[in-house]
Amino acid sequence: MSDQDNPSTDFIRQIIQDDLKSGKHNEIVTRFPPEPNGYLHIGHAKSICLNFGIAQEFGGRCHLRFDDTNPAKEDTEYVDSIIEDVRWLGFDWGDNLFYASDYFEQLYDWAVTLIETGKAYVDDQNAEEISKGRGNLQTPGTNSPYRDRPAEESLKLFKEMREGKYGDGEKVLRAKIDMAHPNMNFRDPVLYRIAHAHHHRTADKWCIYPMYDYAHGQSDALEHITHSLCTLEFEHHRPLYEWFVENIDVPATPRQIEFARLNLTYTVMSKRKLLQLVSENHVSGWNDPRMPTLSGMRRRGYPAEGIRNFCHHIGITKYQSTHDVGVLENEVKQVLNRDALRFMAVLDPIKVIVTNYPEDQVEEMDAVKNPENPDLGTRKVPFCRELYIERDDFMEDAPKKFFRLKPGGEVRFRCAYWLKCEEVIKDDTGEIQELHCTYDPDTRGGENPPDGRKVKGTIHWVSARHAVDAEVRVYDRLFKKENPDAAEGSFLDHLNPNSIEVKTAKLEPALADVEIGETVQFERLGYFCVDIDSTEDTKVFNRTVPLRDSWAKIAGKS
Ligand code: ATP
Ligand code: MG
Repeated sequence: MSDQDNPSTDFIRQIIQDDLKSGKHNEIVTRFPPEPNGYLHIGHAKSICLNFGIAQEFGGRCHLRFDDTNPAKEDTEYVDSIIEDVRWLGFDWGDNLFYASDYFEQLYDWAVTLIETGKAYVDDQNAEEISKGRGNLQTPGTNSPYRDRPAEESLKLFKEMREGKYGDGEKVLRAKIDMAHPNMNFRDPVLYRIAHAHHHRTADKWCIYPMYDYAHGQSDALEHITHSLCTLEFEHHRPLYEWFVENIDVPATPRQIEFARLNLTYTVMSKRKLLQLVSENHVSGWNDPRMPTLSGMRRRGYPAEGIRNFCHHIGITKYQSTHDVGVLENEVKQVLNRDALRFMAVLDPIKVIVTNYPEDQVEEMDAVKNPENPDLGTRKVPFCRELYIERDDFMEDAPKKFFRLKPGGEVRFRCAYWLKCEEVIKDDTGEIQELHCTYDPDTRGGENPPDGRKVKGTIHWVSARHAVDAEVRVYDRLFKKENPDAAEGSFLDHLNPNSIEVKTAKLEPALADVEIGETVQFERLGYFCVDIDSTEDTKVFNRTVPLRDSWAKIAGKS
């Protein structure tokens, strides 16, 4: 078994096991800290599965904490969607729902203490001056002219900042560390900025807001988080995280550990870009089934278990990698293969007339609900003289190896009869109108006839008289490029113009009873989920994933 197959051996779980063994911790406390400035995506799922998974495995707890320190971009719509998505993914935080904004008063008090002890000062420089003064990796920064103002003066100014005396950007509070430090994060990082913005929780109480680096570690400490797991881009922030914990009288000492973020082919994961897709109407919303968001995947019909299994199997490492979206789709298919009920539907219909079948006869054929779960039994499927089959299950000039329907050829109609194509009826333009076939009464249920004849192919069908019309949305990759971020130009240049195709399908009548949110298999085609856009009259289905992946071929062509 490789490390990735057994999550108990990834390097983070190893550290936790060691900390428990050595007695450093008796209880493990983790947290998932989303900023409510967008909907959760599959990358977040990796972090959620890691943090909540560890809490479950080691009998600890995992907090859901909103990192709500940037009111201009945050919203309760996002808070609500995040709560719904984490729950849907199958995790529970119990009473441990927190907001960084719960700690604003405490964070303010600690900032005052940092000023009093000479470790922070109010800087009157604007953002540009501050940025210039920080230098770069080759050049040390230069001290702000306000760096050495007396603590009393900084204290007074900081209070006035809080009271709203200054406009946005007029002043900031900075830690006083080292403007020549090789780690840029130590060059007097900003702790507070002025933002006269309405906050979704604290309303207009505050007009100064703590910066991420300052708020995050202190929130962790206040919640007695033992292991603060974050993505690799925070590696160079870790020494600062530790500096704050050391220089502030916090109630606990959490340890930050970084792991590689999840990247997926044929999509983008940055919230800024996802927001742009939504706000510029490239997709129908955050929960568009083509989006890599959890709400999009849920709407598309991905089972939470498939996403959890994917996160489990890709494992946790320290090196960046991009996972093939096909791997995620396979996990989804495995769960759906086990659970989804089978039905027949024809997406691109062509009519079949069974010329030797009595005009007004209807038979109820027995079809297996789910071959993976025989206990579920069978359903009834009506068969009559007029049927639909899939246009590409018929071929007029078929090669020898074509085992579906062809002129003079015979094929099994799933769970019904064997049918032979006797005549192809075309309209004036040469387009095929219908196929005239005969059935063999000795093959009822699709059984072999007594004369020992054989057929190689089995196709699906729907009774034309009983068929229910539905809208089926067939999705393809949202982007044409494997890595739209790295491709030339804007990522938007690489949107796949054919990422959605809407069809009017013919469904077997039992599909009328499938409910919104349920995912079923259309036999031989794939998995399909009933969409929220369905009405009393017309069901709308999203194609969750096809049974076979044709993308590799198509991608090869372009
Ligand atoms: P932002 O740019 O808005 O900060 P973010 O992707 O970091 O975006 P957060 O809401 O801050 O979003 O993320 C919450 C948590 O999820 C963080 O701990 C973050 O490290 C983790 N996370 C975000 N994206 C991924 C990813 N692609 N893979 C793994 N973890 C991720
Ligand atoms: Mg973040």
